[in-house]
Amino acid sequence: MEQKQTINFGAGPAKLPQSVLLQAQKEFLNYSGMGISVLEMSHRSADFNKILTKTESLLRELLTIPDNYKVLFLQGGGSGQFSAVPLNLIGLKEDTCADYLVTGTWSEKAAKEAEKYGKVNIVHPKLDSYTKIPDPSSWTLNPSASYVYYCCNETVHGVEYNFTPETNGVTLVSDMSSNFLSRPVDVSKFGLIFAGAQKNVGCAGVTVVIVREDLLGHALNDCPIVLNYKVQADMNSLYNTPPCFSIYIMGLVLEWIKNNGGSAAMEALNKQKSSMIYDIINASNGFYECPVDETCRSRMNVPFHIGSKEGDEGLEKEFLAGASKRGMISLKGHRSVGGIRASLYNAVTLEDAEALGTYMKVFMKEH
Ligand code: PLP
Repeated sequence: MEQKQTINFGAGPAKLPQSVLLQAQKEFLNYSGMGISVLEMSHRSADFNKILTKTESLLRELLTIPDNYKVLFLQGGGSGQFSAVPLNLIGLKEDTCADYLVTGTWSEKAAKEAEKYGKVNIVHPKLDSYTKIPDPSSWTLNPSASYVYYCCNETVHGVEYNFTPETNGVTLVSDMSSNFLSRPVDVSKFGLIFAGAQKNVGCAGVTVVIVREDLLGHALNDCPIVLNYKVQADMNSLYNTPPCFSIYIMGLVLEWIKNNGGSAAMEALNKQKSSMIYDIINASNGFYECPVDETCRSRMNVPFHIGSKEGDEGLEKEFLAGASKRGMISLKGHRSVGGIRASLYNAVTLEDAEALGTYMKVFMKEH
């Protein structure tokens, strides 16, 4: 039976490039002629070391990571980093305090977790809805903070920074889980960047941490050893068994990004895909409503309602059912906000986004 083509607009774990899946399939039982799968390989073997080294060097190349930064491959997901960041960095300065920008669910969770380990200042007036980034002129940054933290792309709300916050010399930390390698980044402006792999660079299980060397060695005594950046950096991410298969998949995805033009080419493609969908929303006379301020609309996650600002439940259900018939899946908005959310990560092609755009136009015409 001929299989219907499925287009996955899921927010994560998300679509992977077809060629990566095919290569993983080809190598699954017999990696590089070894007669075993990567799943069965010792993390201390020379062969796994080659995979780890290749993945790191691709990442260094794609992001032009300066030599004074370590790259770590850790477990515990993005949420693990909500704890690891304060455990490792909040003690950098005497006051054990940190500045947080809270612009959505993920930075809110990170700030709450950090409160367990020190004092947290939310640097801007509290937002009544996560639809904008407060103007930097309204921020009160604290010079004695150990770091300033923000989430570069809020996956649930579709709010993305298109600028790098200025911190007057205070260490900048960013959660880039859902827009990592979707555009070029000047790593040298950051003390630390982290990203779970399962959106733009692979599958669940591995979280990348890029950290400047001078920030290592300041962890609180209570920091669990597996989350200790210095320990993991000194052991080349091999203090304990790393997520070997997820690191291998990340290596394949990074190779795919490189062969497809790197982060600049990803940015151009992501701009094109997301503008196409936002243009349809903007031209729909309120039939489609995106609640996010135009200045910070995410290129990765496009949230919208149908029928009214709050969304007409019946219409939205019908939209999702019709999309599913056309093979378009995982378009339901996050349970906390409802509506529709189209995630357009790197592996989502222009044709995929066009198929969604065409369906949105047809659906609007029919209603
Ligand atoms: N940060 C962002 C921006 C996310 O989108 C997510 C999950 O979707 C997380 C952190 C949490 O990641 P994890 O589920 O890997 O803990």
